[in-house]
Amino acid sequence: MGKKVLVILETKDGKLRHVSLEALSVGQTLSAGGQMVAVLFGPDSAAQVGEVSKYGPAKLYVVEGEAFASYTTDAFLQAAVQLVQTVEPDIILLGHTAIGKDLAPRLASRLGIGLLSDCTRVLQRDGQIVFERPIYAGKAFQQRVFQEGTLFATLRSNNFETNEQPCDTELIPFQPTVQDIRTTIRQIVRKTAQGVDLSEAKIIVSGGRGVKSAEGFKVLKELADLLGGAVGASRGACDAGYCDYGMQIGQTGKVVTPDLYIACGISGAIQHLAGMSNSKCIVAINKDPEAPIFQVADYGIVGDLFEVVPLLKEEFSKI
Ligand code: FAD
Repeated sequence: MGKKVLVILETKDGKLRHVSLEALSVGQTLSAGGQMVAVLFGPDSAAQVGEVSKYGPAKLYVVEGEAFASYTTDAFLQAAVQLVQTVEPDIILLGHTAIGKDLAPRLASRLGIGLLSDCTRVLQRDGQIVFERPIYAGKAFQQRVFQEGTLFATLRSNNFETNEQPCDTELIPFQPTVQDIRTTIRQIVRKTAQGVDLSEAKIIVSGGRGVKSAEGFKVLKELADLLGGAVGASRGACDAGYCDYGMQIGQTGKVVTPDLYIACGISGAIQHLAGMSNSKCIVAINKDPEAPIFQVADYGIVGDLFEVVPLLKEEFSKI
């Protein structure tokens, strides 16, 4: 019998997050012969139905109302619990975003079910659904199956193909009872002003202590802008005050999986690799030929980044 899949969607700046589209695409496969439904929170959720319906859910539950204008743990958790009790899904999927990381474990705990977080692959083998996730800071991968109960997983961004499967999605308003909300969002202050979201960027130009100053990051920003990418950083660069911690990639920063990661003046410490080693193509620029970053790089350039990056910019601008 086909499975019923519930995908919890997320928007940012009025647009569906890319990882939500990835989750819907995974949901299409897992719900073959069954049904996929989705849920969206926030006052303008209904406006997203056109975009959502391109990815195949039979129903879109919209949880409107002021309490859902911005994420708060209390409101979203109570609504999600009630929705799961209404929908009774076999499988729940959502992105491994900041919200996903906050909501998923609490939801699993309230529902008394297991959770596999930060999955990078979902396979079907011998009639079972297998979830794969990195362990030991990305040095190995673990494959897990659920023995019983609802299957619940968060998915890492940029690891799954998006697949359009247009359908007539039915819009269903959902009005949960929420109470005792302990937090109020008064203002959202963005620390990084860059246009492309680092955690979902397809191209990242990242700088380390070798960039030597905040001024030095300008050359990286120019290359990122030319490529339509985002700028990231090592903790070394953040600790040195060259850039904001919101740009930090690694074990204690953001985990990214872009198509192209250009590491400039980054030595390649294990804690940095934990955040970027699954990138599809890694280019390292470092003047030390022994730098550990070259061990994970697909292409290595031994040289001064202040000579190499402008050359790359010049060549890319010809394309
Ligand atoms: P360095 O190690 O100092 O490397 C600078 C590199 O730049 C060198 O390889 C040098 O050869 C090269 N270089 C210098 N000048 C140039 C030039 N002109 N052109 C080209 N190359 C040049 N780190 C993270 O990044 N992310 C994390 O999330 C993170 N979490 C951590 C958590 C814990 C608990 C701990 C203990 C550490 C963590 N770290 C993290 C820190 C990590 O161990 C390293 O200290 C850090 O990644 C080093 O940053 P870096 O590569 O920029 O600096």
